[in-house]
Amino acid sequence: MQIGIPRALSYYNFFPFYYGFFSDLGIEIVISDKTTKQTMTVGSSLVVPETCLPVKVYVGHILNLLDKGIDKIFVPSLQSISPKIYNCSKIRGLPDLIRNVIKRDFTIIEATLDKSEKNHGLYDFLTEMVKPFGITDIEKIKKASKNAWKVYNNFHIMTRSGVSYTKALKSAIENKVIIAENTNAYPINIALIAHGYNLYDERVSMKIFDKLEKLEVRVFTAEQLTTEQMHEGLNAIHSKLYWANEYEITGAAAHYIQDKNIDGIITINAFGCGPDSLMLERISRFASKSEKPILHLSIDEQTGEAGFVTRLEAFVDMLYRKKRSTIINKLNIQNRKSKYTDIKCKDLIQ
Ligand code: SF4
Repeated sequence: MQIGIPRALSYYNFFPFYYGFFSDLGIEIVISDKTTKQTMTVGSSLVVPETCLPVKVYVGHILNLLDKGIDKIFVPSLQSISPKIYNCSKIRGLPDLIRNVIKRDFTIIEATLDKSEKNHGLYDFLTEMVKPFGITDIEKIKKASKNAWKVYNNFHIMTRSGVSYTKALKSAIENKVIIAENTNAYPINIALIAHGYNLYDERVSMKIFDKLEKLEVRVFTAEQLTTEQMHEGLNAIHSKLYWANEYEITGAAAHYIQDKNIDGIITINAFGCGPDSLMLERISRFASKSEKPILHLSIDEQTGEAGFVTRLEAFVDMLYRKKRSTIINKLNIQNRKSKYTDIKCKDLIQ
């Protein structure tokens, strides 16, 4: 028994759960290769241009799995993950979208998760996921679900402690839990706010973590926060929950905007994304009230790396200058101009 999982969209939120579940039932998982320019090009060629980049990338990953000879591919329809909180229409209608744009012979393992429907719970979703493999024993499904939660929770214990996304995913799959050791202090701390698929797909985010590390910036993400911290963020911004990712986007951003150790916020969003445009508007207003610098990076398949890096460097440079001038003001230095250059990077570390 073999199932293909595209390395895109919900993979970046729920792969530890999918892995724990399918592997407990003896189903072998084949993941598509990492995103390349080719993945984006072939994915984009099959959908209308207005489609957001993450969905184009998803289509490219399905084609990659088909080229590997995988004939059963998991394409969930994640309607609602808690009552009255919905995903965007593209994620909800993903199986239909894939069926209509990829005219090749394969089985879509389709399962619907809709927590807003009274009679539709997690077990209905899980049962649908394995029905095409002839697995119907509810006790086996419950046992696999326990394993899925274990892998998923271990993954989150690690990311919350500061372990990187990639290391935490690898360790969770190997059934290990590692905790982050003391990480280096950097002069500048930035919170990166984006959907997992825009952040952890290295081709889509253009290796933003590496780029910021080179600029001596320490990065914080929603994965390091607890649900309570993100909830408090939502309360502070007076935001109601409309979209499935409000916690990770609006809640995390509002939390970090209020955090005095965070020097600035960077958001990454896909061009044309409806939910993000609404969430980012509220985040921007909240950031401007708190005078927290914020940079919005919008991406599509045409985004060039040079322009991306230039904006990133300019923003970080501005944060360095802002921090230096704050220190100078604090020290009440009279001859600012000559002392300015004496403030070294290490002096900015708090
Ligand atoms: S939330 Fe936005 S980026 Fe994500 S799939 Fe929907 S439209 Fe695309």
